[in-house]
Amino acid sequence: MDGKLVAYNYGRISTMAVDPIEKKPLYHFHPGSSIFSIGGIGCNMHCDYCQNYSISQSPIGKKRTTYKSPADLVAFCRQQGYTQMAFTYNEPSIWYEYIRDTMDLAPDIDMVLVSNGMINEDPLKDLCKGIKAINIDVKAFRDEFYKNLCGGDLEAVKSSCEIAYASKVHLELTYLVIPGYNDTVDEVLKFVKWAHEHLSPDIPIHFTRFHPDYNMMAVRTTPVDTLLKLQKVAEDHGMHHVYVGNVLTDEGSNTYCPECGEMVIRRTGYRVHVSGLSGNRCNYCGHRLNIIR
Ligand code: SF4
Repeated sequence: MDGKLVAYNYGRISTMAVDPIEKKPLYHFHPGSSIFSIGGIGCNMHCDYCQNYSISQSPIGKKRTTYKSPADLVAFCRQQGYTQMAFTYNEPSIWYEYIRDTMDLAPDIDMVLVSNGMINEDPLKDLCKGIKAINIDVKAFRDEFYKNLCGGDLEAVKSSCEIAYASKVHLELTYLVIPGYNDTVDEVLKFVKWAHEHLSPDIPIHFTRFHPDYNMMAVRTTPVDTLLKLQKVAEDHGMHHVYVGNVLTDEGSNTYCPECGEMVIRRTGYRVHVSGLSGNRCNYCGHRLNIIR
């Protein structure tokens, strides 16, 4: 505009809701709490299976949005008593200016990003100074998948995960398991070994269930057995907190102490019962878990 670059999506909100924090998914960040969640328009990827394609792939102007300035958004949150805010539903990094301005106004609100990890190093480091938690999608562990199905770049996503971890932001990873596309033990092993070596065995990993959507209606839903098999693969290779998601299974979503093996959080759907923790220490053995409460 007038020779200046402007963020045309600045402040344009497509979606607002209060969600269980487990829906982000974040299982180790204030478990059992609710989080005010907002999304905008657009994305820097174009995944063929996007569940939110109506906002992520919609051009600005086509989808109805509501404008809220950062000051109005923060005032609304305070008035409602919300203490946590997630930028989610579409990709938050393309809302960089808006998120940064909102964060600056609200040091009293815990900010969270749910991201595909496609963001340059400098703006990510900048955002990491203000956010408390981030969930990053690792969509697959092969370049071809990123190139052919998403228009993304695996190395950039790995780098973002490593930057977020090094910034001491609470980090969890999501791996959506798509039958026939990214569900081999070999590929998942590469992902798990990288997470173990370059991040930490304590980083929670969520293997989530694919449902047909958008341009991939012909691909079947992920069998629960596949999710449980991959969960076991990750646990057998040293990851301490591996969950299955988008599916009701008791075995796949509870949290156990990695030291003594006792269950410390029971989850049934979005019902969460923290039964074995004092702060973030296990009640049974005193081990400190990677959980923020
Ligand atoms: S990165 Fe997320 S929001 Fe963007 S197209 Fe892919 S699934 Fe949709």
